[in-house]
Amino acid sequence: MGPPGAGKGTQATRVADHFAIPAISTGDIFRANATAGTPLGQEARRYMDAGEYVPDEVTNLMVRHRIDEPDAERGFLLDGFPRTLAQVEELDGMIAFTGHRLDAVVVLTVDAEEIVARLLQRSEVEGRADDTEDVIRRRQQLYAEETAPLVEVYRERGLLVEVDGMGEVGDVTERILTSLDPIPQS
Ligand code: ADP
Repeated sequence: MGPPGAGKGTQATRVADHFAIPAISTGDIFRANATAGTPLGQEARRYMDAGEYVPDEVTNLMVRHRIDEPDAERGFLLDGFPRTLAQVEELDGMIAFTGHRLDAVVVLTVDAEEIVARLLQRSEVEGRADDTEDVIRRRQQLYAEETAPLVEVYRERGLLVEVDGMGEVGDVTERILTSLDPIPQS
């Protein structure tokens, strides 16, 4: 977890490689579907481009199907999910059903000013439609309102691993792995 621009996607790939499990990014799946013009992509795009969350029913169903794929049988890392309390509950159900257990929830903490600068820079490099200043602010607001409260939910469950997300990419990865390696895997 972490606010937009915290580096979730970058770190998710690196951490998943370390544990030899797939990184499942809801944002990437929505974007791939939008590019391919699938019905899911067409629906998701309406929300993404405005910085709004895609409705829970749509997102939950997609994640349910994705973690059912054979490559996720040994475990998986979720990037960008859950983002709402309803998604937390849904994930609990999915995990119980597959026999997995949530081992840890990593939260990247970052400086708000730094993030807007990073995202505006990314918009020049990647051209993501939702990296304009207005939409970035809406995404940040939604994160604060809908997603930040989940940090406390997972803290209470004793699953939270808070990591400083500022600095070099490799340094952040090392901090995450140092925190995760001692945690037993289910
Ligand atoms: P970021 O976290 O940098 O904003 P993501 O790639 O994780 O970027 O997500 C991009 C967009 O995809 C979100 O703004 C939202 O519209 C949609 N999205 C991704 N994950 C979810 C989710 N779990 N629930 C609802 N919408 C989601």
